[in-house]
Amino acid sequence: MLQTLLSKVIRTTNQHIKQLKEMGILTVADLLLYFPRGYEDESDFRTIIELSLDEVNVVKGVISNISTRYVKNGMALTTALLTDKTGSIEATWFNQTYISKQLKGGDEIILTGKIKMNQGRAVFSSPKFEKVKDEQVQTGRIVPKYYQADIKDSKYKISSKWLREKIQPILYLADFFEEYLPENILDENDLLSFKEAVKQVHYPDSEESLGKARERLGFDELFILQFRALQKKRDWQMSWLTENRDKILISEKLLAKFLVKLPFKFTNAQTKALEAILADLKKPYPMLRLIQGDVGSGKTVVAAAGSLLAILSNENLKNYERPQVCVMVPTEVLAKQHYKTFSKLFNSFDIRVELLVGSFTQKQKKSIVENMKLGLTDIVIGTHALIQEHVDFKNLALAIVDEQHRFGVKQREYLAQFGHPHLLYLTATPIPRTLALTIYGDQDISVIDEMPPGRQEIITRIVPEHKRQDAYRWIEEQVKKGRQVFIICPLIDESDKLAFKAVTEEFKRLKEQFFSNLRLGLLHGRLLPQEKDQVMSEFSDGHIDILVSTSVIEVGIDVPNASIMLIEGAERFGLSQLHQFRGRVGRGEHQSYCFLFTDSDSVNNIKRLKAMVQHASGFKLSEIDLELRGPGEVYGVKQSGIPDLKMANLSDSKLIEKARSAAEKFIKIDPDLEKYPKLRKKFEEFGKEREGYFA
Ligand code: ADP
Ligand code: MG
Repeated sequence: MLQTLLSKVIRTTNQHIKQLKEMGILTVADLLLYFPRGYEDESDFRTIIELSLDEVNVVKGVISNISTRYVKNGMALTTALLTDKTGSIEATWFNQTYISKQLKGGDEIILTGKIKMNQGRAVFSSPKFEKVKDEQVQTGRIVPKYYQADIKDSKYKISSKWLREKIQPILYLADFFEEYLPENILDENDLLSFKEAVKQVHYPDSEESLGKARERLGFDELFILQFRALQKKRDWQMSWLTENRDKILISEKLLAKFLVKLPFKFTNAQTKALEAILADLKKPYPMLRLIQGDVGSGKTVVAAAGSLLAILSNENLKNYERPQVCVMVPTEVLAKQHYKTFSKLFNSFDIRVELLVGSFTQKQKKSIVENMKLGLTDIVIGTHALIQEHVDFKNLALAIVDEQHRFGVKQREYLAQFGHPHLLYLTATPIPRTLALTIYGDQDISVIDEMPPGRQEIITRIVPEHKRQDAYRWIEEQVKKGRQVFIICPLIDESDKLAFKAVTEEFKRLKEQFFSNLRLGLLHGRLLPQEKDQVMSEFSDGHIDILVSTSVIEVGIDVPNASIMLIEGAERFGLSQLHQFRGRVGRGEHQSYCFLFTDSDSVNNIKRLKAMVQHASGFKLSEIDLELRGPGEVYGVKQSGIPDLKMANLSDSKLIEKARSAAEKFIKIDPDLEKYPKLRKKFEEFGKEREGYFA
């Protein structure tokens, strides 16, 4: 029944059938699974005496006096009178002459629409209407709204109204859908059956049953995602079954020696994260761990400690083959910074660190690649150049990817091919835990949620346009006192010519009109890597007072003397990104400031910017951003690996937790879904619909 072609079951034109086909809707099942995008609650009936002006009213009554006449400009005006036991009201429609054919005097109908005053009388102005029937479809209930296909010939348009009319009569066919979730999962999570959920999601009996239907359908998506993530995790862990790899027997002595030489003490959160890494290194299968920690929370040193222990712990074993570590970072500046940091941290250990970046000569690159291959280098730190230059390893044990969200999945997984090393991802883009479960469900997650002591709070202010001059003058004074400043131009696609134009114009304006006595630098995505580095090191050496930049500045830069971050068009950035920018200051001894310039007065934008003023925690900000903007906006659906979910709401943490724990239980029972072929089929469909997602 469900696979029957729609042309056989619904009465419509060939044109409509063709349109549906283009929307991917061919069969009964396709149409039943075309879920609404929203609802209008039109179930709250009023009597005529209770109607109120300028709001949507729903009223039931008997219609009379229907007539159409032509008024000025040749417009057709249809009027009718609606009467219930409390009174009568007139309804008017323009240019909808078919109404007088569809309705006749004495019909009992429902009208839904706004009441307007017309020449001193209250009138229903162009209301929706439907005859009273056993089952209302268009109004007088919670009404589904569907995405409509936009086509030119409106006569054959697949409109929301059309879909409502066609779906309702075939909804009983949903009874043919088979249940694919195991019964105990349904019971434990108090879920509707699939067929019931499909019926209720189109035509809900009540708000409550709509909630239940959405919960069931959302649960399915989240369950599939998380189960799939757990399968991936298992596959990753099994990847060593074929490799004969030494466990790393962590040397406590070595660890103590490393910690004692540090100029500071680890925070508790750093200790916990490192312990988790070390525990992973000891296991007989490879690690896949993500460390989330705010900018400046000290992830680098944790990664460095892990690297040291991976390389040297087994040193005294027989047949010791020196393990190697690879650190991949998104920018050349950052690679150099890490290279310095690692080299310094390891200066009293026998560890050979190398840097590999795109701007090296071919000869340099070749020799570094060669040394890695021969095992002469212990750690290589590099940019995408690592991939481009075809690095190879003698014995890669640990691969670290910093700012992992800056890399595509393919790039990150590239390093996995070298004998499935332990994988450690670092990110300063904190996301709420439940969302992390959904996106990074195959990874173990450590959170560094504590800052090293003595970090100052950065004073954040929203600056209205009329205070711009004052702000500039104040900045000038600060520079005269020796401080340095970042000015970020509004978000424009970095690859775009416009971005280049915008930032160079802003640079010129600032230089000529406001800061002619100061030294300004310019940074944008079109500079060559060497040029970028040149600008950055001039800034970092104090030869530039104000650095005007596009968003390329975002990642990792550490300039302790910079104490002011000014962001133009702040409302165009996500909170996490603003937070990243802000993290560029407050790294030294000077009180630091972040100024958010905006000319938007949209309530939502102001709310988001106010959150920046109130909160210093990246986690808190990411939660707020998620709530206010939704995951698609916040994380950019494609690059974040969030598949397109139809029903699940990714800020519904309760449902995510539920689905997670169900998936965790179930993977222990039947990891390959051998006993549940219907569920396996559902998985396949889910993957197919979101092409390549499960690839
Ligand atoms: P991020 O997490 O942003 O990568 P970094 O690793 O760059 O942070 O650390 C930021 C700064 O904090 C570095 O200068 C580092 O030396 C310092 N740092 C790291 N851990 C501590 C600590 N426990 N106490 C004091 N300073 C620390
Ligand atoms: Mg870092």
